[in-house]
Amino acid sequence: DLRRVTRALLSVSDKTGLIDLAAALHAAGVELVSTGGTRKALADAGLPVLDVSDLTGFPEMMDGRVKTLHPKVHGGLLAIRENPEHEAAMLAHGIGPIDLLVVNLYPFESTVAAGKPYDDCIENIDIGGPAMIRAAAKNHGDVAVVVDADDYATLLAELAETGGATRLATRRRLAAKAYSRTAAYDAAISNWFMAELGETTPKYRALGGVLAEPMRYGENPHQAAAFYRTPEKRAGVATARQLQGKQLSYNNINDTDAAFECVAEFDPARTAAVVIVKHANPCGVAEGATLAEAYAKALRCDPVSAFGGIVALNRRLDAEAARAIVEIFTEVIIAPEADDEAVALVAAKKNLRLLVTGGLPDPRAPGLTLRTVAGGFLAQSRDNAVVDDMDLRVVTKRAPDARELADLRFAFRVAKHVKSNAIVYARDGATVGVGAGQMSRVDSSRIAAWKAGEAAREAGLPESLAKGSVVASDAFFPFADGLIAAAAAGATAVIQPGGSMRDADVIAAADEAGLAMVFTGHRHFRH
Ligand code: 5GP
Repeated sequence: DLRRVTRALLSVSDKTGLIDLAAALHAAGVELVSTGGTRKALADAGLPVLDVSDLTGFPEMMDGRVKTLHPKVHGGLLAIRENPEHEAAMLAHGIGPIDLLVVNLYPFESTVAAGKPYDDCIENIDIGGPAMIRAAAKNHGDVAVVVDADDYATLLAELAETGGATRLATRRRLAAKAYSRTAAYDAAISNWFMAELGETTPKYRALGGVLAEPMRYGENPHQAAAFYRTPEKRAGVATARQLQGKQLSYNNINDTDAAFECVAEFDPARTAAVVIVKHANPCGVAEGATLAEAYAKALRCDPVSAFGGIVALNRRLDAEAARAIVEIFTEVIIAPEADDEAVALVAAKKNLRLLVTGGLPDPRAPGLTLRTVAGGFLAQSRDNAVVDDMDLRVVTKRAPDARELADLRFAFRVAKHVKSNAIVYARDGATVGVGAGQMSRVDSSRIAAWKAGEAAREAGLPESLAKGSVVASDAFFPFADGLIAAAAAGATAVIQPGGSMRDADVIAAADEAGLAMVFTGHRHFRH
């Protein structure tokens, strides 16, 4: 299974490690062939190297769009060495074998990431490189293909061990990696294109991302993990600048995303808002005249859970808010921007990560969300429905008053970001009890009401915070029981999608309890 390397084609955009590799190949007696820029780099280093044009008899043309797309190159990569017909074809057409291909592609991903104009992105779509990579990888029975500078050292070690040859097992591994690279490359192009077009359908999408960083571990320490970035232009944890603190963990990234997406629902021109998240669920959300006020209100909802939480802000982090946040153990703060004084205050907590995003993502923007299932994955357009755009229909005898209506909107806005079944009690622009992730809606209702009582106890207040509150449900109440539980806890108004077979019973129960209830016509399941 050994294949001697007599000739190598080197064509790399990123020239890191190139000269050392080429010098070692040359020393091992390998003939070198290269495209324009690579050839020049090698020649400048004093290495003998043939130009691909000498091989093909064609010049590089059309701004480099056509360099290696030629039978002399592809025949040399694709010919099966011990196949008489292939050998005869090589002989007849003067095609020499290429036993080693070293290619890294035009930097499409980093061109997009740098925010370069459309035409630059298009020009950085490599055509000949992927064609050669795919050809060499297909013919891994005879040809070795290297697409990553990290593999140069292993390749050279193998050549040294075998006296100038490659092993089949190595060529197979390199081929698999090569196809991963071209697949990821085309996925990046497809994703960028779809984003440029504002295309949101999950159909016909090549889903992929660029490896941003390998992580120490996943959701649990025995799970491996990596973080990938997509070209989606969305302010958030994936594109944020980390001003301080250690590397974010898998759970940190997931929770920080949940927190920031939730806080982005609050227009910073209208109000300051703060979201505290634990295990991807908000445990306190509040609006306020200032961030510090909003933080205090959010914290009051569930100070026990907020310990070790993620704090997201919808406005520039100021010193007053920073001072309050650093008082309790917090894992991550994420905000659009931060004042110098606030940054200095946070710096006192070495492990606390501070992320600035440069802006808030648009909650109405289209986009995709993904999740895996055994043997596949699901893709859907993101939930970009916003309560302000919904037609709220009053279904009870009593209509909510202005204060109740504001709190109902607030509660439904938050419920969208709570795992189903989601029940959210809110009062005066703050959550006072959150029931998340229960298998029955009535259990979520009970938990939320109980938590409102606990919050009052923590705050030393005589009455449950649910007294005089409103309540939101992410999906319809299938029975009146959840609603009756809410009324018993002290809620005076309800917001829910409606649409249950038993809506009439639920409305009757609401009327009986003197509740005001509105239907949104939109469900916010989140699993
Ligand atoms: P160089 O710096 O050597 O001039 O160019 C190296 C780059 O050209 C590599 O990234 C390689 O993938 C790419 N490349 C090689 N052949 C072709 C081709 O025929 N067309 C295009 N568009 N790119 C090519």
